[in-house]
Amino acid sequence: MDVRSFKCCKGVKAANYFRLLCMNIYHASCIERKNTMEKVEGCRILCSIECKKEYLKRKEESAMLDVKAEQLARKCSEQQEEILALQETLDHKEIENKELIQQHKQERQDKDLLIKRLKR
Ligand SMILES: [Zn+2]
Ligand SMILES: [Zn+2]
Repeated sequence: MDVRSFKCCKGVKAANYFRLLCMNIYHASCIERKNTMEKVEGCRILCSIECKKEYLKRKEESAMLDVKAEQLARKCSEQQEEILALQETLDHKEIENKELIQQHKQERQDKDLLIKRLKR
């Protein structure tokens, strides 16, 4: 780790450091010392007001995405149900059509038979 990359105290070497959400790097001991830093969701640390704003924005965005994903999933399952209902209607229609065709064939045969008998 380059000593210049530390956000808290430049030029001080340390083995223990953290890269925060904002990508700034802090010594672990500096984070402990500075208790102005806000800890959120366990181990996430916000080092400034800007970071907090960014964090809250991202959190809001992700919540909005969750809502959108949920809406899409609901829409998807509604459409699935619609498709199933349509499929069922189609199946019924197919059976009805087959019965009609069968009925038609039978009537034709009956008619042919009748014509043959009359011709004799
Ligand atoms: Zn430091
Ligand atoms: Zn930060």
